[in-house]
Amino acid sequence: MAVENESPSGPELIIATVAFDRGLIERYNIAGPRYTSYPTVLQFDSGFGEADYRRIARASNENVPAADLSLYFHLPFCARLCYYCACNKVVTKRRERALPYLTHLHDEVAMHGALYDRARRVTQLHWGGGTPTFLSETQMTTLMEVTRRHFTIADDDVAEVGIELDPREVREPTLRVLRDIGFNRASLGIQDFEPVVQKAVNRVQSEALTGRVIDEARRVGFRSVSVDLIYGLPFQTPATMARTLGKIVALDPDRISIYNYAHLPERFPPQRRLDAATLPSPPMKLNLLELCIDAFTAAGYVYIGMDHFAKPTDELTLAQAAGTLHRNFQGYSTRADCDLIGMGVTAIGTIGGNFYQNRKDLDAYGAAIDAGHLPVEKGLEPDTEDRLRRAVIMQLICSFALDYATFARRFGVDFSSRFAAELHRLAPLADDGLLRLDAAGFSITDKGRLLIRNICMVFDRHLAPAAQQLRFSKAI
Ligand code: SF4
Repeated sequence: MAVENESPSGPELIIATVAFDRGLIERYNIAGPRYTSYPTVLQFDSGFGEADYRRIARASNENVPAADLSLYFHLPFCARLCYYCACNKVVTKRRERALPYLTHLHDEVAMHGALYDRARRVTQLHWGGGTPTFLSETQMTTLMEVTRRHFTIADDDVAEVGIELDPREVREPTLRVLRDIGFNRASLGIQDFEPVVQKAVNRVQSEALTGRVIDEARRVGFRSVSVDLIYGLPFQTPATMARTLGKIVALDPDRISIYNYAHLPERFPPQRRLDAATLPSPPMKLNLLELCIDAFTAAGYVYIGMDHFAKPTDELTLAQAAGTLHRNFQGYSTRADCDLIGMGVTAIGTIGGNFYQNRKDLDAYGAAIDAGHLPVEKGLEPDTEDRLRRAVIMQLICSFALDYATFARRFGVDFSSRFAAELHRLAPLADDGLLRLDAAGFSITDKGRLLIRNICMVFDRHLAPAAQQLRFSKAI
């Protein structure tokens, strides 16, 4: 089924809907990558180092036209530990621990900045964590000043400048200061509003506080507010979830992300503090997911894909309908083909379609910078085959359809013969109703959209035996 939506500029856009098919989901619910990149980070190679990064960075200035830039800053500190956490973070009450890190980060910004043509505009900038507002208002202001000293950030009406907010770490002047230094998008972690769930995961955050932060963000001029929640947390039931969903919808966010909690205590030590007996069963998790989808679609949100919903008038929805949506390490994006410079411990970047990742250990990160080096730990320069497969996977994950004639025009490749083996492997998925295949191309059905990872996995030539796939979370 499809619904028609009027875009602000007039033309009618066709936006597909999503359908929850429990039987199909249960059959196809296997572990798989989230494809924020292809190849995924598992293919990054420690043979790729600083010199390689400097070479690809300089080469990216020679493209005509050179791509706009996107900057990502990883700010890893948190004052409190959420027990479901699977992020790279440093939990500490000692605010002074951020000082040496910031000194290193300022140096890293300068080193990257020296590699890029100043005429290249930064049209996207994001602070993630950790908890970026662990920093003081002065520290945040200085970091943005340092960034502007070394990069050219586009005007406020063009640049998408976002920050992840933990409402518990938002002080009285924080949002005003963030808006003044250029932020115009906020993403708030909520996870769940039920007191028993919040207590179990050690993240007690009242609705009143969350509501105040959203209201204040809008009042000071943030253009977009998105929220994150998680299904599969301790003590969640359909009744508790229904209450949380009602409260989320009432907050009227522009975008909503729902994440599947993957309980992997052997990999993520904080999760050992959760009592596995209190976690919802796999069938119950599906009930919770179905509730989320029903609540958000009933409230008028559009399923963008891979756990993301947005209002029909949101840029993401319009970009998807227009076929211009993109996907990068921060999720979906309307910014086409930016070169992404990741800064800070563990940060990942993509320059000219090549990847690099910074050191994951805080001390090693600082030591590299003290020695005058960029802290690149590994990376990848994908070959032509992987670039082609990436185009296929990103097309599917962003647009849910692929047209052979368009693909041939863009890449000079006859899709049906080049990917004959993959099309053969897609046939049973088509028989099961996940997609429609015909002579002109294929499109993902409403019930196939929740299983888009499974379809992308057919084109992933790096997927290894089942053992490796255990490193990924389940598709749903
Ligand atoms: S979930 Fe986020 S806020 Fe909580 S400990 Fe992890 S990084 Fe920090």
